[in-house]
Amino acid sequence: MDARVSARIQNVFDEPGCEHNQQKGEREKKKGCARQLSPGAAAGGCAFDGAMIALQPIVDVAHLVHGPIPCAGHSWDNRNSASSGAKLYRTGFTTDIGELDVIYGGEKRLFRAIREIIEKYDPPAVFVYQTCVTALIGDDIEAVCERASERFGKPVIPVNVPGFVGPKNLGNKLGAEALLDYVVGREEPELTTPCDINLIGDYNVCGEQWQIKPLLEALGIRVLASFSGDARYRDIASSHRARAAMLLCSKSMINVARKMEERWGIPFFEGSFYGISDTSKSLRDLARLLVARGAPADLVPRTEALIGVEEARAHARLAAWRGRLSGRKALLITGGVKSWSVVSALQEAGLEVVGTSVKKSTPEDKERIREIMGEDAHMIENMKPREMHAMLSEARADIMLSGGRTQFVALKAKMPWLDINQERHYAYAGYEGIVSLVREIDKTINNPVWAAVRMAAPWDDPEEMAGEGE
Ligand code: SF4
Repeated sequence: MDARVSARIQNVFDEPGCEHNQQKGEREKKKGCARQLSPGAAAGGCAFDGAMIALQPIVDVAHLVHGPIPCAGHSWDNRNSASSGAKLYRTGFTTDIGELDVIYGGEKRLFRAIREIIEKYDPPAVFVYQTCVTALIGDDIEAVCERASERFGKPVIPVNVPGFVGPKNLGNKLGAEALLDYVVGREEPELTTPCDINLIGDYNVCGEQWQIKPLLEALGIRVLASFSGDARYRDIASSHRARAAMLLCSKSMINVARKMEERWGIPFFEGSFYGISDTSKSLRDLARLLVARGAPADLVPRTEALIGVEEARAHARLAAWRGRLSGRKALLITGGVKSWSVVSALQEAGLEVVGTSVKKSTPEDKERIREIMGEDAHMIENMKPREMHAMLSEARADIMLSGGRTQFVALKAKMPWLDINQERHYAYAGYEGIVSLVREIDKTINNPVWAAVRMAAPWDDPEEMAGEGE
């Protein structure tokens, strides 16, 4: 493996901001947190895929995949991240290397591809992604990017995270490292305010950021940069001038939050915008942090006033569904921050959470689940599809909320299922999002299709068949 890549991996494996990581011994740290796969289990994305997930939501740059075309296809658009303007991130660029490039090397082809993109699209920057094949044949993308950057006078950013270095989550962090190494701090913002913040680990899935921004704007809080949902290159390049940061998904980008605190003194806290109480808590924490950093002191009472109005409005809107959903049981199969933040959102909607998966959760996530659900919280470490099916078909849960991969377990049990992961089509953040979530749960649970699919087929019904014969 390239020495620079392995040094970066070891750097990411030592994360002072992660309690779990700090409890490990030196030898254990070197192995990272990836678990050995069980035979037959789906492997998930590769590190390159993780880097693309972390960076592709930067909407105005060209994302060029240096490798065979399937790598670009494999990682394409898998976060449903929305843009409020620029659309270049929706164009797939790849060097599409073939056999001759494998024999003679793909660096010239890469250089030509960068030139073609700059001439045709003139983006503020080009991000170049390394993949397994081009890493194995020894293409030095860092050198090519440096040369192209000098030649064309544009930032050309190497993202040297070939798939074989590890799993998707490691790739998220290594991709974010490219921003720290080559982007953050390279430009200055046109203006700064005492209420400038960075959102870290937010991917604007289905436009969730737009459910939060109006609240922040009402308080005079400006999102200087988002890492990386609906982000622009120049915002990230000047994000070192933010006064505070909120970390929304610690699993994917804790290294960014921690290093920006070390390098530029930007304090951060981890919060969530799922559910009424977590949204209010995050707004409160943000206001306090900004005031401590020099924002006007009236930000705190103004935040309380906004929370009062928004909470009352959200509760009034949710009341319409309470009778239809109260006491219904939900099984939650997701991971990380959503394993606790969606629990509280569901409880606020009147649902009983009969279990939440913690396979991809950190010890801090588990602690928060205990705080929300009590000591008897049913935390599921690794539920097999057979057990999920039994739980649903025996009606110990009325609905399963999970990612697309497990949907067929619920559908086979003829039970309602709702997509809660990144492939979903609805935004669930903030006071607006909880109403959408409850509306979707109601539409799913109370859909008449379930009664129809559970009815016996005519050929299985003896009375119906007897009538046929007359
Ligand atoms: S594992 Fe390697 S070859 Fe496969 S998609 Fe990832 S980068 Fe491409």
